[in-house]
Amino acid sequence: MSTKEMSFQPVSAMEVPRFASIPTFMRLPHVELSNEAIPQVDIGLVGVPWDGGTTNRPGARHGPRQLRDYSTMIRAMHPVSKIKPFEAANCADLGDCPVNPADTMDTLQRVTDYFHQVKAKGVVPLTAGGDHMISLPVLRGLASDGPVGMIHFDAHTDLFDEYFNGCKYTHGTPFRRAIEEGLLDPKRMIQIGIRGTRGGDDVEWGIEQGIRIVTIEEFHDVGLDHIMEEARGIVGQEPAYVTFDIDCIDPAFAPGTGTPEIGGFTTFEAQKMVRKLQGLNLIGADLVEVSPPFDPEGGTAWVGVSIMFELLCVLAGQAAHGK
Ligand code: MN
Ligand code: MN
Repeated sequence: MSTKEMSFQPVSAMEVPRFASIPTFMRLPHVELSNEAIPQVDIGLVGVPWDGGTTNRPGARHGPRQLRDYSTMIRAMHPVSKIKPFEAANCADLGDCPVNPADTMDTLQRVTDYFHQVKAKGVVPLTAGGDHMISLPVLRGLASDGPVGMIHFDAHTDLFDEYFNGCKYTHGTPFRRAIEEGLLDPKRMIQIGIRGTRGGDDVEWGIEQGIRIVTIEEFHDVGLDHIMEEARGIVGQEPAYVTFDIDCIDPAFAPGTGTPEIGGFTTFEAQKMVRKLQGLNLIGADLVEVSPPFDPEGGTAWVGVSIMFELLCVLAGQAAHGK
C-alpha cells in the first residue's frame, strides 16, 4: 500500500456513469504539480500534447485528450495480477505538460523542465503522448542522475541521426540523442517488435552501441516468454524506463497512428509483455503515437489506455513494495 496519508480514488461508475462529467485519466483526481497535495501522489498520469516531431502523418498532439476520454472505461482491478493500482498507490491526473506547438526547441525545454519537477516532487510519471520525440525531454528530466536502462516496444528503432538535412529532433531520433547525451545506457536497452521496410543506418548504429534489437521475426521464433526474460535480464534491477509506441501493435488493432507497419503484435501479446515487467525498478513509462485524426473509430485510443492500465499496474506494484 502507499505510505501516504491521503487516498485518491477514481470517480465511481456506480455513482456517476462513465460517459458523464469531466474525463480525467482513469477518472482520477486532477492534481497539478503546483498543488499542495502533490507530495501525496505516488504516480502521476500526465499528457504531453505535442506532435511537432512527426515526420509523416501528424495528429498525436490530440492523443492525451482522446486517451483521457477513453480511459473512463477503465475499472479498478487487474484481471490477472489482481493488482488494484488505485489502492496500491496514490494515482492522480497531473494534467498536461506545457508545450509550444510552434517551436520544437522551446518545447524540448518546457517538457524537460516539467519532468525535472515531476522527479523533484517524488512523483513517478506515466506519460501519454504525443509523438515519440517527447520521450527525449522526459528522459532529460528523469535521468539526471546518470544513464538508465530502457525497454522499448516499437515497430521502429527511433535511432536515426537526422532528418531533412540536419534536423536532429524528430520522433525518429529521440533515442540516438538520449544515448549521446548519457541519458540511456545502450547496453541496458532492448527494442522489441522492430519491422517494416528499411532505410538508413539506425539498426546498425544501435547494434554497434550494444542495444539488443529484437525484430518481430525473432520474437515469433524465440517466443514471448524468452524475449521478456531476456529483457528483464538486460535492464536488471538498476533504474530503467519503459516506452511503448502504439505502432508496435498491428494496424489491424491500432490503425490510428502516424507510421503503421503490418505484421505487428496482437493486443493480447502486448498485454502479456507488459505484465512481464512486474518487479523491475522503473522510473517511469510512456505510451506514445496515438493519433486521433487517424483513429475515427476510437479503437486505437482504447488500445492505448488499456496498455496504460497495464503499465500503471506495473508501476503501482512497485510503489506498493516501497521502491
Ligand atoms: Mn514507431
Ligand atoms: Mn517510436
